[in-house]
Amino acid sequence: MRESAQLVCRTHAEVAKKIRPGITTAELDRVADEFIKKHDGKPSFKGYGPKNNPFPATLCISVNEQVVHGFPGSYKLQAGDIVSIDCGIHKNGYHGDVAYTYVVEECSDEVLQLLRTTVQSLYDGINEAVHGNKIGDISHAIQSRCENNGYGVVRDLVGHGLGKSLHENPSVPNYGKKGRGERLRSGMTLAVEPMISMGDYHVDTLDDGWTVVTADGSPAAHYEHDIVVREGEAEILSSFEYIEEITKISIDKVTA
Ligand code: MG
Ligand code: MG
Repeated sequence: MRESAQLVCRTHAEVAKKIRPGITTAELDRVADEFIKKHDGKPSFKGYGPKNNPFPATLCISVNEQVVHGFPGSYKLQAGDIVSIDCGIHKNGYHGDVAYTYVVEECSDEVLQLLRTTVQSLYDGINEAVHGNKIGDISHAIQSRCENNGYGVVRDLVGHGLGKSLHENPSVPNYGKKGRGERLRSGMTLAVEPMISMGDYHVDTLDDGWTVVTADGSPAAHYEHDIVVREGEAEILSSFEYIEEITKISIDKVTA
């Protein structure tokens, strides 16, 4: 799983090198697809979902008010866009699943604050992912950080167990109460992934059956790490370092 998670992050870095105004999201998808196959992985998302409407691409690319599950296509990125990219890879029998929201050249201070708070909430959640705690401790930590900053915590989509399948039990909601839910045990592997809106938390799904957008049109951020529950401190299998070597923004190093 560590190898799969690291390959996802290196794939993100390859995509990050190409993010600029004018590039289409389909081109970003092609870069990821080639890199994954060159490294003996298989994209986890392509073909995932219902038989009559499987997800069509390697990456989920969701721009601005799109929260998750956006289709790569002919859209050309513009300066000021924020782009949430989610990538899943299957290798040696295990999945890695990592998301990161990128800035195209620049964004407003308000949007940057949304991104930073979302990353910080991700680490707040991971700090609670220790043996003996409950799922609700992770959920509550994420929700508190984001709502205290005035943001909406998307409820319709949640984090999850991860391993031989892309989505395993238990669900890891980004909202909830301390001390509730399943007890965490050392060795459990989870994908923790806050999806946070600058406005209200309600979302809609577009007619393509996949693309999730904020109902009020406000921008949204999505960051995801793969972790192992341990005694005392969770182990993070993924790493944003590869990405941030390229973007030159260490987005979690600023306090909200
Ligand atoms: Mg994901
Ligand atoms: Mg996930």
